[in-house]
Amino acid sequence: MTSQPNTITIPIIGASIAGLTIAHSLLSHFSTTNHTTNSTTKIKILLINPHPSFYWAIAAPRILTKPTAFTESQYLIPIADGFAKYSPDVFEFILGRATSLDFEKKLLNVEEVTDTESNKTLRQEIKYDYLVIASGSTPSASSTETLFPGEDNKDGENGEIYPFKLSPTSTTTITEAIKSAQTTISTAKKITVIGAGPIGVEIAGELGDLISSSPSEEGEEKKVITLISSTPRILPTLKPSASETATSLLSKKGVRVLTDRKVISVSPKEEGGYEIKLNNGDTLETDIYIPTIGVLPNSSYIPREVLDERGWVRVDEELKVSGVEGVYAAGDITTHTQKLSFKADEMAGVVVGNLVDDINHATGAGNGNGSRKKGWRRGCGGGGGRKTYDEGTDVMMVVPVGTSGGTGQAFGWVLVSFMVWLAKGRDYFIWKAKGYVFK
Ligand SMILES: Cc1cc2nc3c(=O)[nH]c(=O)nc-3n(C[C@H](O)[C@H](O)[C@H](O)COP(=O)(O)OP(=O)(O)OC[C@H]3O[C@@H](n4cnc5c(N)ncnc54)[C@H](O)[C@@H]3O)c2cc1C
Repeated sequence: MTSQPNTITIPIIGASIAGLTIAHSLLSHFSTTNHTTNSTTKIKILLINPHPSFYWAIAAPRILTKPTAFTESQYLIPIADGFAKYSPDVFEFILGRATSLDFEKKLLNVEEVTDTESNKTLRQEIKYDYLVIASGSTPSASSTETLFPGEDNKDGENGEIYPFKLSPTSTTTITEAIKSAQTTISTAKKITVIGAGPIGVEIAGELGDLISSSPSEEGEEKKVITLISSTPRILPTLKPSASETATSLLSKKGVRVLTDRKVISVSPKEEGGYEIKLNNGDTLETDIYIPTIGVLPNSSYIPREVLDERGWVRVDEELKVSGVEGVYAAGDITTHTQKLSFKADEMAGVVVGNLVDDINHATGAGNGNGSRKKGWRRGCGGGGGRKTYDEGTDVMMVVPVGTSGGTGQAFGWVLVSFMVWLAKGRDYFIWKAKGYVFK
């Protein structure tokens, strides 16, 4: 595909919190100026995503452990439907995956899925004018990459992939991946969660709720849930009292919390299940384990020169990819360390503001460079000056521990359990999901 002479082509790679927000905001901004920056120049947004639906990953700890807590239509929102109101002249959703990028030639290669039944793909080359990278991250539990010596090769078919998100290279659908994980979790008796950051604590809390409801049949054993933390206290980035509350809530549910223990190997056993070796010499046996340590950048298609040593995209304060003209990045994929949805939202606003400014400047539609029109949304005011992003140092985190409470921290204060339930624990903000796709 080549860009038309008077069309400014802007592919957005990734349709989640950052990508969806940027796509809608740009479309909304330019539709208020009749889809044009001036009478002869059109904007065309190409939104690229490997899966057809936006997945509300934030609720994954409950979705995976309590299959009836939400309906699929609450957490899987079809992306194309949310953009159906826009003309094909200005918007196209490409079901596919970015596979390579050439910044110098401004070329993006995409593997587009042309037949979802057979997973048939077609390669296409897109010449872009501006580009947005919003391809995010994959939690370790959702990736096929192994983490520990001795671990099985994860092939995604044996229930060892836990879709907190879905990897961009996954060939299973998110529905299949979720169903498979739900079955694995519901049938396992001994479950070990490795890593006690917010996702580890959240899933341990949800699993803790299952202890009291198991066994369903007389004579069956109760579920045994263990949470392993390599740090002396769980939720180490929060204040100590938040860690204490989380430990106490988990213990009340019957979850065994092991702190200051590093997993040194995970070995599959012949009769099924795994043996986990810890750094103090202890071993524990488990039917399944869920690693929640670390996230991986979805950046395999991005030239190495703009990535840091761990694969995250280096950006300047305007969220321009370092050293590359006309390319922006937002959300988890950037080197910014707070990988949170409201930070992705904030970054989306900055990218939209600066892109609109660039385009106005280039086409002479507005004054550009500091004088721009209002009209884009979310975290991006219409005031003057280029937009900049500063992630700050404040810790803002809300961590439900099952359905009855939780802990967290905001503005330097530790949140009381009831507030956590009220804010997030009762529904994991599921009501927000649709709003990202349908604006
Ligand atoms: C279990 C869990 C709970 C969370 N809870 C919270 C919370 O309570 N509060 C909070 O603020 N944050 C929370 N987060 C973090 C939040 O989900 C992320 O910060 C947010 O999703 C980042 O959005 P993003 O758009 O940058 O990237 P992602 O959500 O990672 O999305 C990236 C998108 O790009 C697509 N993609 C990847 N590679 C390619 C490619 N090559 N081509 C095309 N598309 C591609 C992916 O398929 C995906 O759709 C949680 C995360 C998890 C996993």
